[in-house]
Amino acid sequence: MKNFGPTMEPVTALLPGVRRFVAPNPSMMTGPGTNTYLFGKREIAVLDPGPVIESHLEHIERDAGGTIRWILVTHTHPDHSPAACVLAERTGAELLGRPAPNGEHQDSTFVPDRVLEDGDALATDEFVLEAVHTPGHASNHLCYRHVASNWLFTGDHVIDGSTVVINPPDGNMKQYIESLRRVLELGIEAIVPGHGEVIKDYERLVNWIIDHRLEREAKVVAALETNPGLTSHDLVPHVYQDVPEQLYGLAERSLLAHLIKLAEDGRADNSSDHWSLLD
Ligand SMILES: [Zn+2]
Repeated sequence: MKNFGPTMEPVTALLPGVRRFVAPNPSMMTGPGTNTYLFGKREIAVLDPGPVIESHLEHIERDAGGTIRWILVTHTHPDHSPAACVLAERTGAELLGRPAPNGEHQDSTFVPDRVLEDGDALATDEFVLEAVHTPGHASNHLCYRHVASNWLFTGDHVIDGSTVVINPPDGNMKQYIESLRRVLELGIEAIVPGHGEVIKDYERLVNWIIDHRLEREAKVVAALETNPGLTSHDLVPHVYQDVPEQLYGLAERSLLAHLIKLAEDGRADNSSDHWSLLD
């Protein structure tokens, strides 16, 4: 089913009327690149057009084969949404999603014409996409259920082959784990991630992600028991013995997400970033 257009980007037909275009932005954080999905053949919705890469946008417009009417985004991180407003300007398509919150690593150029709430749907003659609000990786993160197939398009909520960064304050570990449990309750058939391949055996993966996060949380609790009053910075080597030192900066963001969750659960507290367990 795989064929290569003149730009050499792979296009894959996943389902009748559902195609995947991979943006040429591969990296450690994006895997093979950002997946852009097209729904429909006559009137088309584009999901996550990615960063502004001219060859990718040209490819989408040239091979869409119909009119691009809608552009949806899962969230407003720089590898998912910046091309949305550019493509909307060229095509007149409507922008759907949730606005970017203030803060770093957010694409403030994305301003939705239609703000989607949990349960809202884009229903056309050819497909129905239902929004599922899944805060955690990003507070404005939406997954989209393609109703005919019962496949869930998960953006960065669940990706193939890696775990995602939970970077506070917009990233929130407690909400992330709750949103992962929500995915398990939906009774979907497959996960279609923002990076990597379709995941059919998704229950095992989602349960593993939840367990992996809770195991790390247990390490945070153990580190706080033996080292009360440390800052998040000084706690890193006690919690991430398995992580090379050059990744400590990233690990500290993740550690902070765990500490904030423990505080939200009423199990820890801090005074000027000196963290301790509560009795
Ligand atoms: Zn993201």
